[in-house]
Amino acid sequence: MRTLVSQRSDRFTESVIREMTRLCNQHGGVNLAQGFPDFPAPEAIKEEAARAIRADVNQYAITWGARRLRDAVVAKTERFTGLSYDPETEVTVCCGSTECMIATLLALVNPGEEVIVFEPFYENYGPDAILCGAVPRFVRLREPDWSYDPAELERAFSDRTKAIIVNTPNNPTGKVFTRAELDHIAALCRKWDVVAVTDEIYEHMIYDGAEHVSLAALDGMRGRTVTISGISKTYSVTGWRVGYCLADPALSGAIRKVHDFLTVGAPAPLQEAAATALALPDEYYRTLADGYRARRDFLLPALEAAGFRTFKPRGAYYVMTDISGFGFADDVAFARHLVAEGGVAAVPGSSFYSDPAAGRQRLRFHFARRRETLEAAVERLGGLKARAPIV
Ligand code: GLN
Repeated sequence: MRTLVSQRSDRFTESVIREMTRLCNQHGGVNLAQGFPDFPAPEAIKEEAARAIRADVNQYAITWGARRLRDAVVAKTERFTGLSYDPETEVTVCCGSTECMIATLLALVNPGEEVIVFEPFYENYGPDAILCGAVPRFVRLREPDWSYDPAELERAFSDRTKAIIVNTPNNPTGKVFTRAELDHIAALCRKWDVVAVTDEIYEHMIYDGAEHVSLAALDGMRGRTVTISGISKTYSVTGWRVGYCLADPALSGAIRKVHDFLTVGAPAPLQEAAATALALPDEYYRTLADGYRARRDFLLPALEAAGFRTFKPRGAYYVMTDISGFGFADDVAFARHLVAEGGVAAVPGSSFYSDPAAGRQRLRFHFARRRETLEAAVERLGGLKARAPIV
């Protein structure tokens, strides 16, 4: 009988992260798997969303984004990176940075061309590459500091390379790419005429004096970089689905066309609220980073005490851990045990690697949680070692 589903949809699995959320709900667990905050969004932006709906901003916005939001994106980008963009031709608003990434790859990469991806990687990038027919080339980030081997990266570039995805601050490792690393990546992009696609959604979650550097700001990169970000993480509104990307007019033109036929546009009233969000004062971003640093500094020692080895993140809100102290053969079995017996959900490390064996002793937690939620998780983790079967 003929197969009713496409080969392309058969080549990747359902999201492991969202599966863990469902499992967590079944067991009434504390969700440290799917990364989204459980604390409220800023009052001012909720007010603005409600105001926009009451004012009947209820129909399609301009496909590539309401003018007010594009202006706000341009102003905020200039405020934090010094880069200037033209709101008329260089900004595209999408349904979250997730859509920005797939629209960008569909717009720029031909079937068979290679896309370089650092691994462990955010799980979307694999299916994104498959959906546009690209061939992913993986370059390993190495523990404990998640640096890469420069020679390995140089070997990954060739005439077949069309793009490189750079996610900094990084999910799942918390790595913040250094200026020196980004200079090296930029030089390779120029040498091989490659486009850089950056995922900077965690740009404001930076700790211990680390510096967030936008690749687009480096020499010769403005015209060959698509910079992706959005409001989900910075303003605690992951369900609103408003993201944006910045790129020169030629690249933006192609991305806008793909975006138009994928989704037409992002939610119009929430674009108004997003414009208000992006104009929040510098103090907001400092407080946000301080809050996340405090959550990190609470969770990591507790994970260590419970038997995990942790790799300290310098950015974003995730921590990768080593579970070899628990004696499980498999990260998926351990994650299931942890949620069923321990009441805490985390993400199996194998879902971040092209070769699942590389993540068999790794588990990712996130700490976008209120203090009480983290305390509840820590209390549950307390008895874990005693309960774990040695297999
Ligand atoms: N980015 C978040 C994570 O990695 C949420 C993923 C998702 O569900 N889109 O957990």
